[in-house]
Amino acid sequence: MQTFIAECRRKNKRIGFVATMGALHKGHCALMHRARKDNDVVIASIFVNPTQFGPTEDFQTYPRTFEHDVGMLAYENVDALWYPTVKTMYPYPPATAMDIPSLTQTMCGVSRPTHFQGVLIVVAKLLNIVQPDVAYFGQKDFQQARVIETMVRDLNIPTRIVMCPIVREHDGLAMSSRNVYLSLTERKQALCLWHALSYAQTLVTKRKVRRVSIIEHAIKKIITDEASDAYIDYIAIRDAKTLQECTAIAPRQHIVIALAVFVGKTRLIDNILARA
Ligand code: AMP
Repeated sequence: MQTFIAECRRKNKRIGFVATMGALHKGHCALMHRARKDNDVVIASIFVNPTQFGPTEDFQTYPRTFEHDVGMLAYENVDALWYPTVKTMYPYPPATAMDIPSLTQTMCGVSRPTHFQGVLIVVAKLLNIVQPDVAYFGQKDFQQARVIETMVRDLNIPTRIVMCPIVREHDGLAMSSRNVYLSLTERKQALCLWHALSYAQTLVTKRKVRRVSIIEHAIKKIITDEASDAYIDYIAIRDAKTLQECTAIAPRQHIVIALAVFVGKTRLIDNILARA
């Protein structure tokens, strides 16, 4: 990878990078597509990063579809793929700990207390290895994108971070590698996230609802009415920049409405942006 990068740099090529855990779908492809449009060289990585999974989470069973992924990357005209082994990325357990407590101890960080520390370590390593000019991340993992933007800013990493919109199935379900875990009934119930989020967005933008508790209540009702197998991990209505909580949405404030919901055993996340 270093030889390849050195050659690209010597030729003054602009490098775009997309980090993934594989099991690629159209959401990933949209990031590659954007990277292709903006850059001379596109590099993707596939690495199921053990340090971002909790001890009881799905690291072992996370879908791995390497042949299929390589086909998708070829289709998207990606120039190089970095798919290291765990031993290559972590020849020894990292002694460095990274954290951004103001962003990681809330929302997904509550039920996944070590997740973002693992994300920070692996993304810092990947950005140092690939040295891209621009790296593309999905709004699907909104909190993750904010955490990475902050790390890059704080550590003067010379990569620009671009957040790309969520790609959805025809009926609104956010594409995710974990959607394959859903049974047919769960797949139907999983739509409650999209229904609740779009309704909440309408409440903010059209009906001018400002009180956060009213919006939370409406979201909860849609989820419980539509999905008997759903368990709400969190509903978060936050400032879109800082992820700070608020009780009322201020005029012209940009907010993110984010959800994590277990449908059966599968934990799904989704979010939508709104401006008051
Ligand atoms: P993952 O392979 O799940 O780690 O995701 C790799 C990148 O793809 C992350 O930046 C995700 O936010 C992004 N991504 C995953 N699903 C989607 C989606 N449905 N739409 C847009 N980006 C996505």
